[in-house]
Amino acid sequence: MTLQQTIAEYLEYTGHKSLDISAALIDCDGVLYDSMKYHTQAWVKLMKKNGIKCTRDEFYELEGMTGSEIIKMKFKTGAGKNITDDEAHALYGVKTRYFMELGEAPIMPGAVRVLETLKEAGVMNVLVTGSQQDALLARIEKDFAGLFSDVKVTGHDVRKGKPNPEPFLKAMNKAEKKSNQCIVIENAPLGVQAAHAAGCFTIGVTTGPIPEKDLYKAGADIVYKNMDELAAAIPSLLLALTVVKA
Ligand code: CA
Repeated sequence: MTLQQTIAEYLEYTGHKSLDISAALIDCDGVLYDSMKYHTQAWVKLMKKNGIKCTRDEFYELEGMTGSEIIKMKFKTGAGKNITDDEAHALYGVKTRYFMELGEAPIMPGAVRVLETLKEAGVMNVLVTGSQQDALLARIEKDFAGLFSDVKVTGHDVRKGKPNPEPFLKAMNKAEKKSNQCIVIENAPLGVQAAHAAGCFTIGVTTGPIPEKDLYKAGADIVYKNMDELAAAIPSLLLALTVVKA
C-alpha cells in the first residue's frame, strides 16, 4: 500500500476531513530506550520467585499494561491468587529493583534523531508513558534535553493502562490537541491498540521481537523497522499528513 492509500484509509475510518499534525505522542520503553529486554527479564525473575511459570515473550505481549494490572493478572491465572492493590504495589517494587539491577538500558538508536526531526518541523513532542519511576523520568530530561515539551503523561496521571486509550486521550487533552493533529509512536501491540482507539495516526516501530504484522493487526496505520528508518521518513510523512479541508 502506498503512503497516500494508507492516509486515505485513515481519513475514511476516522471520518477526519483535514489533518494538520502539530503533536507527536511518544511512548518510552522500546521507543526511546532499548529497555524491553531488561523489563521482560525482570518480570520473569519476579514470577519464577513466586512459583509462576512464564516466558519472556508473554511480557512483550503485555507491554503497555500497568505493573499492577500485569501482577494481578499473572498471579490470578498462574497461581490462582487474588492480589490486593497494596500487595501489587509491593511486588511492583521488587520487579523495579530487579530491573534496576540489570543496569541502565541504552538509548534506542535513532530516537534522538526522530525527536530532533519532529521538533525542527515545528511538532510538539509529548511523552506518554505508563512508568512511574522518577529516576527514569529524570533520565529522559537529561538524555533528550530540550526535545520534549513540558506537557507529558506518566504513570502518575493515568488509572487505566494501555490498551485503554486513556493515556493518549489525556495527553491530547493536556496538549490541547485533537486526534487529527497527533501522531503516536509506539512499539507494542497494546500501545498501538490504545493509540488507534484514541483516533490518532498510529506509527508502529518493530524494535523488539514482535513482528510487523502484529502491529498492523493491533491497528497501526504504518510500521517502520526501527527509529532510524522512521527518522528518515518523517519529513515526507508530515507532508503527506497535511490534508486541507475540501
Ligand atoms: Ca513501549
